[in-house]
Amino acid sequence: DFLAADLAASIRTIADYPKPGILFRDITTLLGDARAFRRAVDELVQPWAGSKVDKVAGIEARGFIIGGAVAHQLSAGFVPIRKKGKLPHQTVRMAYALEYGQDEMEMHVDAVAAGERVILVDDLIATGGTAEGAVKLLRNIGARVEAACFIVDLPDLGGSDKLRAMDVPVRTLLSFA
Ligand code: 5GP
Repeated sequence: DFLAADLAASIRTIADYPKPGILFRDITTLLGDARAFRRAVDELVQPWAGSKVDKVAGIEARGFIIGGAVAHQLSAGFVPIRKKGKLPHQTVRMAYALEYGQDEMEMHVDAVAAGERVILVDDLIATGGTAEGAVKLLRNIGARVEAACFIVDLPDLGGSDKLRAMDVPVRTLLSFA
């Protein structure tokens, strides 16, 4: 798959970040490569070209960058899902699993209306804890989560399978085993 290989080549891998033993996939190099960024966004939105998507929800912080571009491309609104305490208006909250322990994420209570079609976007899915929390948050306020999109999948960590088990179609462009 040429596209996947090209995109993978534009991603930098940093050993032992943020902790010893972890290989961090640094997508800032993909974002900084005009052609790779454009192709990644074009490819992510391709299944929804011409169909109605009301909102794109992006997960802080790299999901804002990709989600903003995806929303523009689909002529959809953009909704930020943030770490707790960052949003100014009334919010709804959801706990989500971290590698060690848990945290909470928030969105504005009026950011999505019941029945709206939403696509969730982040840069990468690993264990799926973050995306699972975001899907629950969106579903709690009545959104229809049409799909979750990520540039990178780490399939060995099981996140994409976890989302599919929640009946969320998952779209990823490349994976690192
Ligand atoms: P998960 O909750 O699926 O285990 O972790 C995914 C979340 O952590 C995403 O928000 C993603 O941005 C971040 N993340 C975890 N590992 C990496 C990585 O290697 N590279 C990047 N760019 N983000 C990561």
